[in-house]
Amino acid sequence: MEKIITHSQIKQAVEDAYAECRNITGGKNANYIPFLANVDSNLFGLSVTLNDGTTFNVGDTEYKFGVESISKVLTAILVLKQKGAEAVLKQIGADATGLPFNSIFAILLENDHPSTPLVNAGAITACSMVEPKGDSWGKWEAIINNFTDLCGSESQVLDELYRSESETNFNNRSIAWLLKNYNRIYDDVDMSLDLYTRQCSVGVTSSQLAACAATIANGGVNPITKKEVFAKELAPKITTLISSVGFYQNTGDWLYTSGIPAKSGVGGGVLGVFPGVMGIAAFAPPLDEAGNSVKAQAAVKAVMKKLDLGVFNGDNITVKAD
Ligand code: GLU
Repeated sequence: MEKIITHSQIKQAVEDAYAECRNITGGKNANYIPFLANVDSNLFGLSVTLNDGTTFNVGDTEYKFGVESISKVLTAILVLKQKGAEAVLKQIGADATGLPFNSIFAILLENDHPSTPLVNAGAITACSMVEPKGDSWGKWEAIINNFTDLCGSESQVLDELYRSESETNFNNRSIAWLLKNYNRIYDDVDMSLDLYTRQCSVGVTSSQLAACAATIANGGVNPITKKEVFAKELAPKITTLISSVGFYQNTGDWLYTSGIPAKSGVGGGVLGVFPGVMGIAAFAPPLDEAGNSVKAQAAVKAVMKKLDLGVFNGDNITVKAD
C-alpha cells in the first residue's frame, strides 16, 4: 500500500509517545557495572532522524550515556567495511544465540563459532579483526572515528565508566580466553578485550544514536553530514544482524511486537532502524530482566504504533515535509 507520512505527523507521534511513556515505571538500572547503577533512573530521551536529516528530539536527548552493547553495531559496520561481508560471516557468523548477551554457554554450544558480532563474544572477536592489526592505538582510532562518522559528531569514552567496566569484566575476560582457545581471536587477546570494553564505555546521546540509525536506514550515507560512511550493500547485512539478535533472547518477541529491528544496550539505549525511512533512538536507564530498557522499548513501540508503521507491513512509504 502507498503510505504518505508528513514531518508534522512524525513530530506529533514522537511528542505523544514521549508523553505517554514518561511515567512508565519498572525495571532496574544495570548493577553489574557499578557506574551504571548510579545513573539517574529518571532520565528519558527520544529522538528520530529521518532519511532527509530532519531530526525530532524530546526529553534528555543531549545526555551522554554509556553506549554499551549498541557499540557492537557500530564496530560490526567497521569490520564489514574493512573485511567484507563474507569474512564477517566466516570469521564471526550471523546467527542468533537465543541466549543472554554474555553467555559462555553459547560459545561452548557453538564450539568454535562466536555466532554474531552483536553478542559479547562476537563483538570481542570483531574488535580483534579491526585493522591495523597489532596496533592498539590505531585500532582505537579506527573504532572511534567510525563512531564519529556514523553519529555525525564526536563522542568520547566516559572515563569513570571505562574504569568501572574494566575492574568488573571478569565474565568477558573468560569469554575472550575461551574464544582464543577456539582460535576465534585474530589479534592480541587482552588488547581485543580492552578495545571492546572501551567502546562499550563511550558516551553518546539519543540524538547521536538516531543519526547513526538513520545512516544505516539511509544505505550508509549519514543524512546529517551527507558523508558516505559505508557502501550501500552493507546496509542490509547490518540490519539483518540487528533483526536477528538485537534484543538477545527476547529478539523474536521484540520484532513481533514492535515492527522495527533494533539494538539495545545495558546503558539504557535502544537504536532502531527503519530502512529507507528513519532511525529512532531512545534512552532510559531501568532495564528488564533481559537487559533491555523498559521505557525506551515502550517509546519506540509507541512511535511505530502511532504512525502505523512496521518494516514487514508491506507499505511503500513516502515521507514529506509539510
Ligand atoms: N559492556 C557490557 C558487557 O559487556 C555490554 C552489555 C550490553 O549492553 O548488553 O557486559
